[in-house]
Amino acid sequence: MAKILIVEDNALNIKLFCDLLAAHGHQPEAVTDSRNALDVAKQFEPDLVITDIQLPHVSGLELIKLLKADEQLSAVPIMAVTAYSAIGDEERIRAAGAQAYVSKPISVVKFAQTVDELLPDRHEAALIERPDDKTGAPHEGTPEIRDSEAGPEPQDQGSPTI
Ligand code: MN
Repeated sequence: MAKILIVEDNALNIKLFCDLLAAHGHQPEAVTDSRNALDVAKQFEPDLVITDIQLPHVSGLELIKLLKADEQLSAVPIMAVTAYSAIGDEERIRAAGAQAYVSKPISVVKFAQTVDELLPDRHEAALIERPDDKTGAPHEGTPEIRDSEAGPEPQDQGSPTI
């Protein structure tokens, strides 16, 4: 579970992002007015910030710079989401301090994947998922999760042994 702050002025996108993040076990918090984003971020202390770029008042690019200049928030990874990208936009957004850049309309898979990559505990998760990578053995050491769901072996004591 990670706390993820979403800065987005479009209600449908907020709903989509919040639903997606909640489905992945995260705790999303949305801000529609980017003028409040810094204050909300300081209170919420997110593990990741997802920000739209085309925002009224304070643009996403400006917000990224503000977050990176803030002592408390400068280490928080930032994922930028943008619908219109001109040549050089991605470079500018990354130069401002965003670690990732996803274009709209978002691909659900790409969105979830990028979120996972930016969260600090992703290395642990990767290790758990691939325990046999070094040996190439077909998952010899991994416990059989499948059997535990089926419950204990039926102990039919009265059945004849042939
Ligand atoms: Mn927008």
